Order: sequence, then structure tokens, then C-alpha cells
Amino acid sequence: MTTTLTGLECVTCGQRFGPDGPWMTCPDCGPDDGILDVHYDLDAVRAAWKSAPLSGRPLTHWRYRELLPLEASAVQDDWTVGWTPVIDASRLAKELGLKQLLLKDEGRNPTASFKDRASSVGVAHALQLGAKTIACASTGNAATSLAGHAALAGMPCVIFVPHTAPEPKLAQLLVFGATVIAVQGSYDQAYQLCSQACEKFGWYNRNCAINPVLVEGKKTGGLEVAEQSASFGGVPDWVAVSVGDGCTIAAIWKGLSQMHQLGVIDRLPRLLGVQAKGVAPIAYALEHGSMPTDLQDGGTVADSINVAVPRNWRKAVNALKEANGVVVSVDDEQILEAMRAGGRHGVYAEPAAAAAVAGVASAVGDGIISGDSRVLAMVTGSGLKDTRAAIRAGGEPIKIEPNLDTLATALKGRGVTDGAR
Ligand SMILES: *Cc1c(COP(=O)(O)O)cnc(C)c1O
Ligand SMILES: [Zn+2]
Repeated sequence: MTTTLTGLECVTCGQRFGPDGPWMTCPDCGPDDGILDVHYDLDAVRAAWKSAPLSGRPLTHWRYRELLPLEASAVQDDWTVGWTPVIDASRLAKELGLKQLLLKDEGRNPTASFKDRASSVGVAHALQLGAKTIACASTGNAATSLAGHAALAGMPCVIFVPHTAPEPKLAQLLVFGATVIAVQGSYDQAYQLCSQACEKFGWYNRNCAINPVLVEGKKTGGLEVAEQSASFGGVPDWVAVSVGDGCTIAAIWKGLSQMHQLGVIDRLPRLLGVQAKGVAPIAYALEHGSMPTDLQDGGTVADSINVAVPRNWRKAVNALKEANGVVVSVDDEQILEAMRAGGRHGVYAEPAAAAAVAGVASAVGDGIISGDSRVLAMVTGSGLKDTRAAIRAGGEPIKIEPNLDTLATALKGRGVTDGAR
């Protein structure tokens, strides 16, 4: 199968590059402004999907291979990423006064977060280029997903994390055999150090903000929402996504847009971006068109979106504008409540993932989302990623002596003792 890739375009100066790259940023605009966007021949994609329809393909994100910047031989069919379930949270929708609320459970990916979409494509691309070592800086999930997929590929990887990363994520990294550098500083500083190290040692750089391949991997989240929407009543009115660096929401929008252009869906949803209160620079940027100057990270339970200096704010703001989008911010209490709410539908979310659900609740409360809407929230990571926060959300078990009468007393009013056998 030949590739449908036509080339890359700099989002700042518009310069076009051929399919051979550069596979990082525009040499004229530099690493901050010269973000590249990957282009495809959509007519060729349409033709390929006609001769080999999506419906007959494996249930992983590799089903969208013609929309990934990989040669056919680099596609890793046995890495089971994507095609995550969409759960109809009907009771929660009713509580919120919403027509429909769908939870796309990205925690069911191989290393338990949405980031597997990006890392799997990144590692496949690194293999294609013959890279020897791969590296990234991450608040946690990009790192664990990279370490997991590098392990699948048998490729060494080096990870830079801020020293505040939750222990379960660190444990995952170390068990996957990554070289883990815990930087005594912020995520921003970890990010800078990683970029310098990639330059110095010639490693493949998995940082999503500057490597256009990663966005293409994340895009499959949007492609999937579009394709799966046929089975849950059509395109949702809103898609809610929590926002840190901004790559995820921008990529999901790109996926949705491509499916619209390809005619798989006949309309597009609006986007709800969700940030943590106190660390909400994208909310500011959407309003003012620039970054705030005085923000610091550290103020939220949602570590995966605790990003004061987002690397991809321009792409995120562009996507939000195109999507007639809105950004809301939620506090820790709202996030913990949303963890419990998702849990009651069998969806175990880490705080940053629950934030999307909290954002939906908040937007409904504020009248931003009307009650007759159908909403899909991307639940971007598993609750297993941050058990300390999960314990905060879940509360305490009932502690009793091993005695049936005491048990009966303790269970009064909990609705579990009425059932007849
Ligand atoms: C990374 C991440 C996000 C945000 O993605 P960005 O690309 O940084 O905006 C949201 N939720 C989880 C669980 C994440 O790991
Ligand atoms: Zn440029």
C-alpha cells in the first residue's frame, strides 16, 4: 500500500515541505512558532476506504492507516491501541438534565491513557527512521505510554518527568524499563532539558508539541468518535476534552474535521475545552489571543493538565475557534465529584480525565450547554494512574467487627439489604 501523505505545512509561515520532512519544526520559524501540520491526499484516502472498507478492519486505531504518516511496513498491527468503548452514562445525564452523556473510556488503552494513541505512532515512526533511542518530557501519561511502546519495540527510552509526578505513573515507567530522570523543577523545565538532550544526543524526540507525528496519533481519537457516532445516535452536539498543552483537543478536532471532509459524518460537534481552575492559560488565550504572563503550575489535583506554559496553545485556540468552542475551568471538588460520577457508570478516571466530565456538568449548570444536547466526554486516563486522588474521591470503606448483626446495622439505609432471594 502506498502512502497517502502529501507533505507538511508550517502553521506560522505556510511554507510547504515534502513527505520526507523535516519531521520536527519549521527551520525558519523555530521550535516555538514553527509547528508543522501533516497533509494527506483525501481523495486517495477515500478511494482506499472504498476498496478496503473501514467496517472490515481490525478494531484498533491502525484501521486509519491511510491517515497516519507511516509507511505500510511501519504500521504495528499487533499493538492494540484505540477503539475504546463509549459508555452511555444515562443516569448521570439525567442527574445533570442532559439528553445524552457519553463517556469514551480512553483508560482502556494498553498503558491506560489516551496518550497511547500518540506514543504508538511515535515509536512506529522512530522505527521507520531507524532511531536508536527515543525520549520525552511529560506530566506522566505521555511518558508511560512511550515507555510501554518503546518496550514493545525493544527500543531504549529516556523520560524526563517533574518530580511531582504521581507514584503510580513513575512505577509504570520504571517497570517498563525506561531511564527515568526526575527533574527537580517544573514540567516546563523538564521539557526544556529534554529538548536540549535530544539535540545533544541525537535521540528521537517524542514531545507532542513539536513533533507533528504525535498529533497524527492523537487525531485517531477524533476519527474514532466520528466513526463510532453512528452507533450512538449520530454526531454529538459537543465533545468535551480536558486541556493541558493543547495537543489533544487540537488533534481530536483534526480527526473530526477529516472525517467530515471524507463524508463519514455530515456535521461537526462543538468543542468544550476543560481546564483546571488556577491553571487555565488556554481559557485566557481564547479570550485574549495571547498567553498570560504570570501563571505557575501547581494548583490542581489534575496533574496531567497542570500545565502553566502550554506548548501548543495556538493549535488549541485555532481548533476551539473553528469549532465554535468554549473553555471552562473546574476546581478540585468538581473533579473529585466527577470521578465518583464516572465511577458509578463503571468508568474509572484519573483527575484530568474526570475534569472533562466536571466541565460538562459546569457548562450545563451555566447554560453554555443546553439540556437538549448530546455530549461526549473524552475520559483521557484511568483512575489507576493516581490512586491517591482516587482514594480522596472514593472515601472510606465501612469498618466493622466480623459480626452479622453489626453488618445489618451498618447497612441500614444503603439500599442493599432489601432484595429477596
Ligand atoms: C495529556 C493529558 C491531557 C491533556 O492533553 P494535552 O495534549 O496536554 O492538552 C488530558 N488528560 C490526560 C489524562 C492526559 O494525560
Ligand atoms: Zn515556518
